[in-house]
Amino acid sequence: MVARRFRWHVGNLPRCRREGNEEVGLFLAIELLISDYQEHTDESSKAKMNSKSQGPAFRLTGRGFGLLRGAFQAVAVLSLCAVLKSMASAQPVAAPSTPTDARGGRSAAATGFTSKYRPPAPADILRNRAQATDWADQTRRTIVPTMHLVETAHFLIFSAWNSANDQALAKVCEEMHAMLRRQFNISPSEPIWIGKCPIYVFWDPSHFRRFTTEVDRVSLTKNSAMRSDGYNASRGTLSYIVINGVREFGTTQQEATTRFYEVLAHEGTHAFLNRFISSRSMALWVEEGLADHLAATLVPASGSSRKHVEGARYALRRPSAAARLLDKTELTSMEYGIAQSLVRYLIQRDSRAFIRFVEIMKRGASQDRAMAEAYGFNREEFLDQWAMFSQRSLAGRSP
Ligand SMILES: [Zn+2]
Repeated sequence: MVARRFRWHVGNLPRCRREGNEEVGLFLAIELLISDYQEHTDESSKAKMNSKSQGPAFRLTGRGFGLLRGAFQAVAVLSLCAVLKSMASAQPVAAPSTPTDARGGRSAAATGFTSKYRPPAPADILRNRAQATDWADQTRRTIVPTMHLVETAHFLIFSAWNSANDQALAKVCEEMHAMLRRQFNISPSEPIWIGKCPIYVFWDPSHFRRFTTEVDRVSLTKNSAMRSDGYNASRGTLSYIVINGVREFGTTQQEATTRFYEVLAHEGTHAFLNRFISSRSMALWVEEGLADHLAATLVPASGSSRKHVEGARYALRRPSAAARLLDKTELTSMEYGIAQSLVRYLIQRDSRAFIRFVEIMKRGASQDRAMAEAYGFNREEFLDQWAMFSQRSLAGRSP
């Protein structure tokens, strides 16, 4: 019922898929209410609520209070929705819900955007944190008792790893955050996340699988969920990252760590793009190419650092592969490499124009219009320029 958005990556052949669009408010509130009510009426005999795990609505516990508690929550959650709605309408920035192309290409001043981010509403910050903490508490109680919070300036990292890794984990997440800021020229005073971005990190893949089905209740097919390396998803205004158990990410500790950082940077980029200007999706090659490019930048030893070379070589031999890629909604492993190569070319040509290119699409314009406005070329010209650039840069590399 509730529309959610997912991107996930499967094994060494990453594929992202979108599921629905993001919606805020009533549907989310009703879903939370229903799932919470069902969960607690089903398990009321064994559940002893931990006061720290409670969400924004007040709760009653015990078998006899199920219905009464449900009614109280309905009133509380619907009231919260009314407050959120009034706060949203009072915000000075335009809501990101106009039809495609309706506002595309106009200047920031003309569209009423004064910031690259919608200012987060305090109620959303509290509500998202409560939801994220609730999931972590449930995970600790029912799946993996070592899950604990590592809080940094911009992230709520819920880690099932040994706490000896906390500092390293906090450091790499903040490095990723700084990299995203630099790439998009974001001032430190602009809040990227609504509060802090939750990241769930597992050691054992079986714990990750149980989290996806029992806590997050992801509607992936079981087979896909079991083989996924991580995903970014959003529910209403809550955007979060989940990463698979790293135990199977490599045969050595070094390999596993490298792959973990790569997946983190890739999914972190998706979470970032979901907040940048609006939650609109862009052409898939832009999102995936950028996510892999930033993963390669943060983790030079990762597979993403080599993929764009393979992708460029392949597409230079088959020019139609790059042309087809621009409209694809699902990518093969090779197409991830081509996408990264295209994105690298655009950034290298003019990094400020690339930010404009993304901004224009996030305001609703098509990729063709954004390309014309930011770079002044059409698809054919873009691909011709990219091919010339790639031939020159590959000429200096060994085969
Ligand atoms: Zn992706």
